[in-house]
Amino acid sequence: MPPPRPTAFPRLLSPLDLGPFTVRNRIVMGSMHTGLEDSVDHVGALAEFLGARARGGAGLLVTGGFSPNRTGRLTPHGAEARHPLLQHHDRVTRAVHEAEGRVLMQLLHAGRYAFHPLAAGPSYSRSPITPFRARRLTRAGISRTITAFGRSAALAAEAGYDGVEIMGSEGYLLNQFLAPRTNRRRDRWGRGAEGRRALPLAIARAAREAIGPDLLLSYRISLLDLVEDGQSWEETLALAHELEAAGVDVLATGIGWHEARVPTIATSVPRGAFTEVTARLRAEVAVPVVASNRIHDPALAESVIADGRADLVSMARPLLADPRLPQKLAEGRAAEVVACIACNQACLDKVFVGRRASCVVNPRAAHETEASLRLTPVPTGRRPRRVAVVGAGPAGLEAAISAASRGFVVTLFEGADDIGGQFRYAAQIPGKEDYAEAIRSWRTRLLSHGVGVRLSTRPTAEDLAVFDDVILATGVRPRVLDLPGFDPAAERPDGSPDVVSYTELLAGRASAGRRVAIIGAGGIGVDVAEYLASPRPSLTEDAPAWRERWGITDPAEHRGGVRPSGGAGRTEQTEPERTEPEKTELEKAEPAHEIHLLQRRPGKVGADLGRTTGWVHRAELRHAGVIEHRGVTYERIDTEGLHVSVPVEADPSAEGRARSHRKDTAQDADPVERRHEVLAVDTVVICAGQESERTLADQLAELPDAPRVHVVGGADVAAELDAERAIRQAVQAVAAL
Ligand code: NAP
Ligand code: SF4
Repeated sequence: MPPPRPTAFPRLLSPLDLGPFTVRNRIVMGSMHTGLEDSVDHVGALAEFLGARARGGAGLLVTGGFSPNRTGRLTPHGAEARHPLLQHHDRVTRAVHEAEGRVLMQLLHAGRYAFHPLAAGPSYSRSPITPFRARRLTRAGISRTITAFGRSAALAAEAGYDGVEIMGSEGYLLNQFLAPRTNRRRDRWGRGAEGRRALPLAIARAAREAIGPDLLLSYRISLLDLVEDGQSWEETLALAHELEAAGVDVLATGIGWHEARVPTIATSVPRGAFTEVTARLRAEVAVPVVASNRIHDPALAESVIADGRADLVSMARPLLADPRLPQKLAEGRAAEVVACIACNQACLDKVFVGRRASCVVNPRAAHETEASLRLTPVPTGRRPRRVAVVGAGPAGLEAAISAASRGFVVTLFEGADDIGGQFRYAAQIPGKEDYAEAIRSWRTRLLSHGVGVRLSTRPTAEDLAVFDDVILATGVRPRVLDLPGFDPAAERPDGSPDVVSYTELLAGRASAGRRVAIIGAGGIGVDVAEYLASPRPSLTEDAPAWRERWGITDPAEHRGGVRPSGGAGRTEQTEPERTEPEKTELEKAEPAHEIHLLQRRPGKVGADLGRTTGWVHRAELRHAGVIEHRGVTYERIDTEGLHVSVPVEADPSAEGRARSHRKDTAQDADPVERRHEVLAVDTVVICAGQESERTLADQLAELPDAPRVHVVGGADVAAELDAERAIRQAVQAVAAL
């Protein structure tokens, strides 16, 4: 046997004794709801989902949250740890154990975050993110809740789980009991910090008693609540010590309540942003500590363990994106790891609206049993089919790699001088640096799968005739609006604003003047506004400045770890205008651009952005002073500027914010309901969606003896062009070859 190869991740891949058992490495797939937890019908798929991650080498897996009772369910039909469901979970635990993994069931009581009328918390209250007012748990109710946690833990043990994790963070019930923000009780369950700790501790003891000494008890502790009147650092440490005494084996850490107006997992959050606070906890306790939030990069994970900031790292979304991440690290193939871009688009955003999770860059995630996505190798002995893929955007890249993985001979054509398609533009946006990682990962996998790549090449239909199959992933082209002056390619008179497409701007082939109007406030219009408004280097690359922007402070100084005067996320709700001396250098700096963001719809700007990230973008725009115009009708662009009309009533954002340069031309206004305006801007950036690029598809259709053609991604449907759909469609097309 050859000696094992030295690994670049010696600490991350080293085993650790957790007490009841030893895990094979420090990689934890932290709890994440997938939508497979809620029903008996999905137990097989859940087993396959977790089994795949165990086979891929993860040391410890934690299921999505199961409520101990009906009151604590996240949704009316949400997962509950009860006998009829858990009696089938031996399939789940067997799938993990057969791959030598370990798995915990997470017990989660939603408290006032429950999305149903039974919601109950420490005090009467309604969270800002749910429509239901939570009732106050009675003392008998509290006692029943403790019993329910114990009973659920016992059921998990019976199903073969290696232990349980008690969810005590993210603002769920136990976190609600711990914080003065939500616990206003005067009885033994709320009197002082000790009273507020009483329920989590009682539950930890009940769970320990239920599972006995041989199974693992993990507690997810909130290190930073990131809400006003959250816990103080002193209280967090006191809780940690008492949990240890109550028999907790591992402290998994959580950051931020769901209602916090501070991003904690979005792609714009600096990597490892919260590991310093994890290190502070680790220095104070004897049990192993798990770091979490934005630990995507294996090299960062290695350094977190090597520096002693934590004993284990939670990599939930990275393992959704690539179930074989640990195995690839162990085999020296780190560069082939499918990179999670922290977009939340197909995972958390879906789960929050009651849909099954998936992953933008891995459509098989939580859909492992779906036959239409299964890539079976072609039988050996046959002449391998020759497959051409045209277009090296996300759909084409995934199609090429998938086809090569089946054993086809694949050539990938790309007209540009590099791969990445729309992801190349996204990677230019400050806060979206991770998109470049996805491109890097595709580049490596093209190489390792032996895909022939022809850059700066636009094949003709005749060139493609030699292939057996052609996958057309030619993507989209920016929509050109049929209005006077709106075509970026048209000649324009001197003195007229420049008109550019977002692709030109983000590719660096065009620049923007001081005053800019952005046409279209969809995902890309918002991205372009942030591109123009954001400081360089990006705050994502500068953790202290990012923390300052969002008002994150030392939890030892301010409860919850948030600045009392607020941060970028709270401007809408509470933050008073900061006085000049209070402003940071960044805030004092004169903005480089005055930005107008326009949309035809009357509703709020960025309304279609992701559920978990849209508010972050809207807060950034607000913070940057972007001027929003809603309900706009575009008229023309000429030497005066951009001519629009706006409804007089439904234009609160523009009203009162008129700038000196803007010439309201009231004499032209429709006296009934609209007002004509001219925005005297220097540059107009068109972000009005896309149209399919299908020229080649049409030419191939004319060709006699044409190869089989499969059109995928934006080339098929441009409307609401979305990378998840495009990649999924590409994999399905290849699976069906
Ligand atoms: P989009 O989200 O569909 O937005 C294009 C916008 O252009 C529409 O919101 C529409 O708004 C406007 N528009 C459409 N046709 C128009 C016309 N004929 N004249 C004038 N305006 C018109 O498309 P996108 O911004 O190009 O983004 C493409 C895809 O990438 C989307 O699926 C998007 O969700 C995704 N993406 C998401 C993010 C994110 O979540 N942060 C970021 C980037 C991209 P009005 O009709 O209201 O004016
Ligand atoms: Fe990561 Fe986005 Fe996939 Fe979620 S959908 S796992 S955030 S790449």
